[in-house]
Amino acid sequence: MIDEFSGLTRRGLLGAGAAAAIGAAIGGAFPKSAAAQSDTTDDLVFVNGRIHTMDGKNTIAGSVSIRGGRFSAVDSAPPPRAGTRVIDLRGRTVVPGIIDNHNHVVLMGNRPGYHVPLENASSIADVQERVAASAATIPRGAWITTIGGFHRNQLVPPDANPRLPTLAELDTAAPDNPVYISESFSGPSTVNSRARAFFERQTPAIAVGDEGSIAAGPQATGRATLALRQTLLTFDERKRGASEALAYGLGLGVTTHLDQGAFQGTNTPGDGAAHEDNYTMHLPFLALRDEGRLSARLRINFLHQDAGPDLTTLAERLKHSFKFFGDDMVRTGGIGEFIAAPGPTSPFTEAAKLVARAGWRAEVHSLSATDFQQEIAGYEAAHAEFPITDLRWVVAHVPFITEPWLNRLKALGGGVSLTGWRYLAGTPEQNGPPFRMILNNGIHAGMSSDGMQIAPMNPWLHMYYATTGVNARGRVINGGQQITRQEALRLYTADNGWFLREEQQIGTIETGKLADLAVLSDDYFAVPDEKLKRIRSVLTVLGGRIVHDEGI
Ligand SMILES: [Zn+2]
Repeated sequence: MIDEFSGLTRRGLLGAGAAAAIGAAIGGAFPKSAAAQSDTTDDLVFVNGRIHTMDGKNTIAGSVSIRGGRFSAVDSAPPPRAGTRVIDLRGRTVVPGIIDNHNHVVLMGNRPGYHVPLENASSIADVQERVAASAATIPRGAWITTIGGFHRNQLVPPDANPRLPTLAELDTAAPDNPVYISESFSGPSTVNSRARAFFERQTPAIAVGDEGSIAAGPQATGRATLALRQTLLTFDERKRGASEALAYGLGLGVTTHLDQGAFQGTNTPGDGAAHEDNYTMHLPFLALRDEGRLSARLRINFLHQDAGPDLTTLAERLKHSFKFFGDDMVRTGGIGEFIAAPGPTSPFTEAAKLVARAGWRAEVHSLSATDFQQEIAGYEAAHAEFPITDLRWVVAHVPFITEPWLNRLKALGGGVSLTGWRYLAGTPEQNGPPFRMILNNGIHAGMSSDGMQIAPMNPWLHMYYATTGVNARGRVINGGQQITRQEALRLYTADNGWFLREEQQIGTIETGKLADLAVLSDDYFAVPDEKLKRIRSVLTVLGGRIVHDEGI
């Protein structure tokens, strides 16, 4: 049925090879066509599906019609007019396009090399397969890289000792391409022989162990990542990376990203996976937009970490940028996920006042057992001078937030962004967030990945953790705080519209909203828990355009 679209969907931003690599990275399957932004939007009608609209009544529709880029009818397909394409879903589950309200897709798009996400790998053999699939589709000698987004905990059975792949294993997978795989922000890393030769040629040589290991930290992994950035990253390479990062998300059903910035890059070995230049890293994405090749919606937060009381960069940003400026594809979104440098002498409250006075949105993250207290108190101090009740300020991650503090944030009109990043390396002590308590509280809540360094982007992994409380080692670490699948999906769709101030536009399948949806590989509501992790999108629609298509 879908083959008739392939002319449309194969055009555009990815070569078939890159698309195949991405498809392989997602689930081992090779999609028939690449993500693309077409120049026309025909009417589309989906029939015979289980379409979870996520409207206020949790309506499950059988059909949905799209006209002019928006949903035009739900469960009442109008008579098709000339040019209408009818797609038989054959019982497949459909959900609204996933909104990731806090991630770092811009960092992912600026990685050096052909980036192979390993967040969905579940064994060393799986890593080898994905690396080999990438090697088969890229130029001989081109770099295959994975920088962040996964953890060794995923790669071995629960009773085995977690480890990264070895040099020999990576040589087997890709003998003709250098391979560099780096965990989290700053390693450790592992390489194959061709990559080792490159690193040993650096001055001074970067030490690579017999097994292919490069130590964590600035003197080893930091130097290695820097060398790759300085050697490989041209603007065209960044554009390729940006389009592949968005295409990767589309293969998982993610149609909208709220990017939360980077640590300001220094061009030194101290830079980790999360460092980039906050002033230029969006440009490859904006170039794609200008060329009509942006395949997903991007919302941009600006991250600022001024340590001094004059708040130099934040003040300049607020003076010279427009808030909530852009269009349905790209829009600025606020200040975050830092508004000031962290630490005991942080000018946090003054920064909050500056943001409040300018009428911008603020978002900060909480990781410790106490940091949210200073943050919410700082929000309150700003609110006392410049009310923020309508500005939708957010505290993200909140693994240890308590209900009294949640109520204080709620009183400010604020919300919390929840993530399942503890899935990768969490423990019964380092667990959370308290999903159940937060949903019962009723504060505005949404869900996000915080991918791509310390967490995966894959929303289905996060929904797995939110609904089971189980980490990558198969251990229940968040008992008593699990939520239902319906609740988790609602956080990732309908409830996330609020975080973007776009709840009238996206997040549900309702007449008049932008036509973003994902046709899933499996029934999210019926599969066993472990299969949640393998869900992907087989067909993704953005604004009425098919932007990812593996065939239904
Ligand atoms: Zn983040």
